[in-house]
Amino acid sequence: MDYDVKRHLHEVLGRLPSGVRLVAISKYHPNEYIEAAYEEGQRIFGESHEQELRHKVETLPRDISWHFIGHLQTNKVKYIAPYITMIEAVDSLKLLREIDKQAAKCERVIDVLLELHIADEETKYGLTPDDCRRLLDGGEWRSLQHVRICGLMMMASNVDDEAQLRAEFRTARLLFDELKARHFADAPWFCERSWGMSHDYPLAVEEGSTMVRVGTTIFGPRVY
Ligand SMILES: *Cc1c(COP(=O)(O)O)cnc(C)c1O
Repeated sequence: MDYDVKRHLHEVLGRLPSGVRLVAISKYHPNEYIEAAYEEGQRIFGESHEQELRHKVETLPRDISWHFIGHLQTNKVKYIAPYITMIEAVDSLKLLREIDKQAAKCERVIDVLLELHIADEETKYGLTPDDCRRLLDGGEWRSLQHVRICGLMMMASNVDDEAQLRAEFRTARLLFDELKARHFADAPWFCERSWGMSHDYPLAVEEGSTMVRVGTTIFGPRVY
């Protein structure tokens, strides 16, 4: 292993205030990198491809919590439903319904986040703030007994402009507060704000993140 995962993991952890959790994004990295982080106590890892995740789940320690962070096709939900801890990127009611259906078959309740689209990149998935409002105002989600909406996830624009990044995180934070007050005032589990990646997580934490998703800084560049 030519990258010092342990040192970089501790660097990131050292910059997180207590109460902010780290999801170590291990996509495209081999098991030995994950094991190095695991040996240091890291237990939450994030992956974005169902097959790669399945292989890792079968070959790595059982007490790892896996977050699915990528775009999830509805026909893949059944494969991850038995074990996934959190599905971070729910971007449609259709996907939410399918997660509910598959979770019911497994007699589980699956925690999810709604993926918010604020960044100006056109290719990114996610719900606009108005899509989020419509989905929740629609109310159908309340009848889905096997999913639990725990908060919002978002990816900021891939820019260095600190003012722009802060503005995007603040927009997400304001929407979180609005939705919390409107739909989840009595739901203490609606508390997660998943924002911050390698290039912007210190800013994201300043802007109210509760969960950062950091890959490259911990594991080095991905080899696709
Ligand atoms: C890959 C990925 C990350 C991690 O990105 P890094 O820049 O490597 O830290 C975070 N969130 C999502 C949704 C990703 O797909």
